[in-house]
Amino acid sequence: MTQELEEVKQNVIKCTKCDLCKTRTNAVPGKGNFQSEVIFVGEAPGRNEDKNGEPFVGVAGKKLSIALENAGVSRDDIYITNIVKCRPPNNRVPSTVERNTCQDFLKEEISIIKPKIICVLGNTAFKSILGGSEITKFRGKVVRKNNQLYFLTVHPAATIYNQEFVEVLNNDILKLFQIVKELKNNKKVLIDIEYAP
Ligand code: SF4
Repeated sequence: MTQELEEVKQNVIKCTKCDLCKTRTNAVPGKGNFQSEVIFVGEAPGRNEDKNGEPFVGVAGKKLSIALENAGVSRDDIYITNIVKCRPPNNRVPSTVERNTCQDFLKEEISIIKPKIICVLGNTAFKSILGGSEITKFRGKVVRKNNQLYFLTVHPAATIYNQEFVEVLNNDILKLFQIVKELKNNKKVLIDIEYAP
């Protein structure tokens, strides 16, 4: 891990900028390969993440790991983080205030890692990062905003109760890493949605 990323991690661990610090067990900084071409961004830590202080270590995390393995990618190859770094009580959706208060940490992670593409997992991340909604309508698409590429897919937690989404997530992750391969080879990638600068 770079020194800069380690500093972000330590700042997350001791952060008390919003009320989620009062109910968390552990803050959950991002984790993974700082040289990754892709950053995955989910919503918020859940119970297992809060207990362990690590992102995506619960059932949803296992679902993501399976989708990654299916694409021939190890969890150690990628970097993964969340929109908010502390668990909202009872896993409620983080509020606008909480999301806005926490957003600088994500911006720092992105500016240090400089990923070729950011994989947006689920509606809350879609809304926070791109102002979008109804990710199921837009999943599988590539977005460009301010010269940064994003790839949209469902949150792995959606696959726990809806079997249809297992195949959706697996196929999307396969497509994502095909795009990553093309980007690494300096090939042109088809942009589905372009945000005006
Ligand atoms: Fe700080 Fe983010 Fe945790 Fe709020 S959710 S206390 S802003 S790290």
